[in-house]
Amino acid sequence: MIHNRKIFLEDRAEIEIKPDTFFVFRDLAQDRNPSKVECEAVEKRYHVFNSKELGTGTFAIVKLAIDKETGERLACKMVAITKVRLATPGGNVASAQAIQQEISILKQITHPNIVQIKDVIQSPTTVYIFLTRVMGGELFDYINNNGGIPEHEAKFIFYQVLRAVRYLHRRNITHRDLKLENLLLESAVPFSRIMLTDFGLAKMPASTLERMQTKCGTVVYLAPEIIDSPPGTGYSKSVDCWSLGVLLYTILSGQMPFGNVDNPSVVSKAIKSTTFSMEGQWGTRDPTPEARDLVLKLLNVNAKERLTVEGALLHPWIAKQKETLDKLYVKMLRKSHLPAPSFQSEPIKADALKAK
Ligand code: ADP
Ligand code: MG
Repeated sequence: MIHNRKIFLEDRAEIEIKPDTFFVFRDLAQDRNPSKVECEAVEKRYHVFNSKELGTGTFAIVKLAIDKETGERLACKMVAITKVRLATPGGNVASAQAIQQEISILKQITHPNIVQIKDVIQSPTTVYIFLTRVMGGELFDYINNNGGIPEHEAKFIFYQVLRAVRYLHRRNITHRDLKLENLLLESAVPFSRIMLTDFGLAKMPASTLERMQTKCGTVVYLAPEIIDSPPGTGYSKSVDCWSLGVLLYTILSGQMPFGNVDNPSVVSKAIKSTTFSMEGQWGTRDPTPEARDLVLKLLNVNAKERLTVEGALLHPWIAKQKETLDKLYVKMLRKSHLPAPSFQSEPIKADALKAK
């Protein structure tokens, strides 16, 4: 449709001509005005779309970016260095150090279910982390929009998350912020590829014996030993397994097991006493006894007895259908449009064979 209307474009105006195709207007007469460019090094190689926000988190804004040379679409996570990051209630960790930790861990990771780091550029005020762009939005919205999902669909999602976390735990990396908002879907349809993101709180202790001390994470997903453990005792990567229990409960029911974020002290109390309802219907769904059993074993207040990721993968809810899940997994990866450097790190076929 043609409108008889004039629009005056400003330099760098962004127009989406059709989904995912953009027209960026450059007014060359404006080119000498450096105030428009936030970071020369970014500008040289990428175009970051100001109008195309992919998400916001606790610390970052994530926008669509295009590699000017290759045309590849990426996610650009921008973290202001001046913003001090949360860490312990007693003291803050300088943000630059925390961002360096996030980058250094991301650089060591290649997995089909974890976003891949592509580039990092730093300006005096901001760190720009370029990542695989995942288009289907957060699992949070997917679950919310569907009010919980059928159990067989939940199983395939959870299986992918378990594979990602097993990869991390084998490398002694604890994510520490596993939640629906940090799990992205390649597309918002059933049986999509799931991608774990946000390594802002991830930690890789020098040894497997070293215990973590920092109280951090998102309150509704926090393991009881993070909320309340005697000084100096610390915690291990099993805190991720607790969060996986919260995650599975929520995926299955569309509800949070310990209430919602608005009331942190009530939530903390509920977590410490593990008061949540395992009986009857969960939301509009009615999970099988095996699904409930897996949730219960992950939400074990005793961290030493809590199921590990390897244990979760061997739990009957998963293990009984391992062959089907592996077939689905291989098929899903074949159909996926996300870049696949990840195939090198986890030999999917070999893994699938091993499971038989
Ligand atoms: P923070 O550390 O501030 O929590 P995140 O890394 O979680 O930041 O990013 C914030 C949000 O941006 C995410 O919840 C998600 O919605 C979106 N996002 C993050 N990474 C990507 C990505 N690679 N592709 C698409 N969207 C993303
Ligand atoms: Mg986040």
